[in-house]
Amino acid sequence: MVHVGIGYDVHALVEGRKLILGGVEIPHPKGLDGHSDADVLMHAICDAILGAMGEADIGHFFPNTDPRWKGARSRLFLNEAARLVEFREGKIINVDATLIAQAPKIFPYVHAMKINIAEALGLNIKLVGIKATTNERLGFLGREEGIAAMAVASVDLRQEG
Ligand code: MG
Repeated sequence: MVHVGIGYDVHALVEGRKLILGGVEIPHPKGLDGHSDADVLMHAICDAILGAMGEADIGHFFPNTDPRWKGARSRLFLNEAARLVEFREGKIINVDATLIAQAPKIFPYVHAMKINIAEALGLNIKLVGIKATTNERLGFLGREEGIAAMAVASVDLRQEG
């Protein structure tokens, strides 16, 4: 049975933080605020995988009150989501995500992001989709106050459903 899940995340852009998206450090005057590395793309993908399994969200598994996750690299969260899929004897079929960022330009980093996400999930890079769009200068994303990401994941849970 193929199960699909959806994920969404947003973090505020602030000074004095590195900008990490899809595990790639991107040169930019501001970075995303958060307890971990605030990698909004990996967080959205993580939630999509958890959602496909009907599990609780990323904040439940990795609370931002837990000092273990302070400054954590978000690939750990993807590792853990993939481990949960394995535990349920499932298989991730594919993930697809869209980053919504007015700036910086994302495209030059997409391939490196795909490599990181594919590695963290144990997937072929062809099974990882990443696109990016601006918000046409509209709203908080358009004013560069934050960056958002949405994602879907499909997971084959053979034994279930
Ligand atoms: Mg987050």
